[in-house]
Amino acid sequence: MKSLNRVEISRSALIHNFEICRQRADGAVLMPLVKADGYGHGMIECARIFAEQGAAAFGVAEAVEGVRLREAGITQPVLVLVGVVPQTLPDIVAARLTPVVTDASILPELSRLAGAKGIEIGVHLKLDAGMGRQGVLPAGFVDLVQAVHGSAHLRLDGVMAHLPLADDRQSANSDEVLRTFLKTTAALADCGHGTCCLHLANSGGLFYVAGARLDMVRPGIALYGYYPDGAAGAAAASSPRLRPAMRYLTHIIQVRHVPAGSGLGYAHLFTTVRPSTIAVLPVGYANGYLRTLTNRAEVLVGGRRAPVVGRISMNLTLVDVTDLPEPKVGDEVVLLGRQGQEEIGADEIAGWMDTISYEVLCLFGQLNPRVMVD
Ligand SMILES: *Cc1c(COP(=O)(O)O)cnc(C)c1O
Repeated sequence: MKSLNRVEISRSALIHNFEICRQRADGAVLMPLVKADGYGHGMIECARIFAEQGAAAFGVAEAVEGVRLREAGITQPVLVLVGVVPQTLPDIVAARLTPVVTDASILPELSRLAGAKGIEIGVHLKLDAGMGRQGVLPAGFVDLVQAVHGSAHLRLDGVMAHLPLADDRQSANSDEVLRTFLKTTAALADCGHGTCCLHLANSGGLFYVAGARLDMVRPGIALYGYYPDGAAGAAAASSPRLRPAMRYLTHIIQVRHVPAGSGLGYAHLFTTVRPSTIAVLPVGYANGYLRTLTNRAEVLVGGRRAPVVGRISMNLTLVDVTDLPEPKVGDEVVLLGRQGQEEIGADEIAGWMDTISYEVLCLFGQLNPRVMVD
């Protein structure tokens, strides 16, 4: 028994986007970010596809996600970006995950757990080179490197930092962060760690910041088919372009004919000004189609745009199909993606919701049944 709502993920689009990122990486290896259930596209399915395409490592937020990747048979290094704390260390060691370390206090316990298993654990350090969010400040970097060096069962495999403004092509900030990162990590050679993997670039860094690719790049949004600077980035992009991998579709459950002057739905936030044909959709904020889309969004019916009218409720949305030829119960309606010659992208929906494509993809992908196609 299937829901009337469905998110489709295109395998061929994911592969195409991986290939574009690989070409852009200019020799640097790729670490796909598959946190947030692969930005709503399915963490395990995406990781398997990217692994087949040659991903060198994966990035997740919490250790629990890394454990799921291991259970699914992913063998590449899995970097745990947040939540490396005393209570998660046993699972990190047991699953052979790669903790991203921001301060020295956890190193003794991490080393002890690794030693007890008779293994050596590779760690990456996170340097705050200007992100201002997480990580060791440049002044504390060498001490942290030495602390890893002094831990019997730990090995320094990499050093990373993050770019706060990589999606802003006008900003000089990324060059500044890159300089700070390179200057600070130059000390590694003196500490005997000259060969560890340096990585800085998210999708914005990969596409827009010359020199930021270093040894490894960490694309997220680009792999799922969107530019980090949204519609502006898509408009300015040269071929071959990224291809959005997600479609979100539903079906008409009722077609209603109502007179002019009819108030529609909760609070009557829309009143018809003409005799109208209204299609009822079994989708609402519980499916990630948020209330902020009320009276703002458009959907595709029969390859043509139709406006959302009235308040979006938990599981119902109304669209005005008066101008469309013969909409019928059971017709497919596309909320995100292409139908015929028309397309609604996550950047356009993000504009209606006053957010970014990332949030739209996470909401739709994580709150609906999902299938892989082609
Ligand atoms: C999420 C994340 C990325 C990927 O960012 P995109 O903008 O989606 O490419 C890269 N690095 C870190 C540390 C992240 O948390």
